[in-house]
Amino acid sequence: MVALVRPFYLVPSRTLVAGYPDNHFPFVTKNHSPSMRKAAFFTLGCRLNQTESSIMAKSLENEGYMITQEKEGLDLAVINTCTVTNQSDAKCRQTIRSIQKKNPEAMIAVVGCFSQVASQQILDIGGVDLVLGNEEKLNLYKYIAQAQASSVPVVSVEKISRKPFTIDTIGQHLGVTRANLKIQDGCSFVCSFCIIPFARGTSRSREVENIRQETQALADMGVKEIILTGVNIGTYQHQDTNFLSLLDLFEKVDGIERVRISSIEPTTVGREIFQRMADPSSKLVPYLHLPLQSANNEILRLMRRKYLIEEYEDFVLQAMEQIPRLCIGSDLIVGFPGESDDCFADTFETLQRLPVHYFHVFPYAERQGTQSVKLPNQVPPPIATRRAASLRELSNQKKEVYTKQFIGQELSVLFEGNQGGTQWHGYTDNYIRVAVNSNQPLKNKIHQVRLSSQKSGIAQGELID
Ligand code: SF4
Repeated sequence: MVALVRPFYLVPSRTLVAGYPDNHFPFVTKNHSPSMRKAAFFTLGCRLNQTESSIMAKSLENEGYMITQEKEGLDLAVINTCTVTNQSDAKCRQTIRSIQKKNPEAMIAVVGCFSQVASQQILDIGGVDLVLGNEEKLNLYKYIAQAQASSVPVVSVEKISRKPFTIDTIGQHLGVTRANLKIQDGCSFVCSFCIIPFARGTSRSREVENIRQETQALADMGVKEIILTGVNIGTYQHQDTNFLSLLDLFEKVDGIERVRISSIEPTTVGREIFQRMADPSSKLVPYLHLPLQSANNEILRLMRRKYLIEEYEDFVLQAMEQIPRLCIGSDLIVGFPGESDDCFADTFETLQRLPVHYFHVFPYAERQGTQSVKLPNQVPPPIATRRAASLRELSNQKKEVYTKQFIGQELSVLFEGNQGGTQWHGYTDNYIRVAVNSNQPLKNKIHQVRLSSQKSGIAQGELID
């Protein structure tokens, strides 16, 4: 499941996904000369889009571009778009106009989901040089020369293939401790609110050997944690390898110490995964993000989700019983058409009771072309906003309660960096953000830390090794 808007910090990067602020690209070229052409990425939407921006950036860097976070003075601006709601489309249009205004001389490339479903709308804005759909965007670097030589915009939006795929660029830069690894794309479910199956096609999987090569390359670059990323990764299937058997591959790659599942549909993975997560010798960390959307069966039916709330609850309770320290997150949509006060109360009370430790909450937003726009009993936006606020408050409380139970305990932390000075920060395997004071250089190191206090779900601790 792809989250509908940018989630809060807990998402290792949307999702469970990508948590980089929109229009902010975390990787920049370190060693560059003043003569290099400057390119910047403006990425909207989910973790998968962020992953793909990093792949495109790396391939442009290989072609001699300097990747920058600057917003002006660019030679090339790449807008990697999202189309998950009508508002996402509006935001894409707004971003294109704003980047054009600041960079009248730059080549403007618009790629991704909005390009896939609405290339003409993008051309109608004017001033765009290159439009690529999802099938072509990872080959962006191959289209640049063609667009430069052309007096009219170059557009390539093909039907999305159903075949397994490979990626020939490793999309990460040096200095990254945790890396998103794309293993799958598309979705064959047809949730009534979701346009993703149209924008990204049906579910298809990345070839196993190609995943192994990128994993090894990431390990060689010093990456310690990989985050398995895609649209519906539990449906992974390449030849005889399914999602569970794919996990064996990562166990064998030296250097990779943690494997995290970004987000997984509750119905797509067998309960064998509990055993593996519970095994202390496995690299798979005790963390599950299971999008629920609603805890009312009638709303789940209208959403065309593939489970009943009873099945979801059973899965969550069994997982908690079998996996020590497990952190469970979820996504929720409030104000879906037909969601009465009673339906919402079902969701609120279920989340109060269940061991789900945080949730990303999205007020329902219409997307033209989806089934749910035709549903009766649309919920007025102020009601959806109120419901979202009360669930977010509950999520904050639950995250604090979850973190508090580990105060006084020793947990391993992968440190990501410091904010200047001696304050280092990182994550435990069960995704508690931890801050530690130390004079030692801790970046990209895993240490045992005793948690001593917490505030707003962020723990303070001391190194004990
Ligand atoms: S169709 Fe459903 S399962 Fe597939 S991406 Fe959309 S919300 Fe997720």
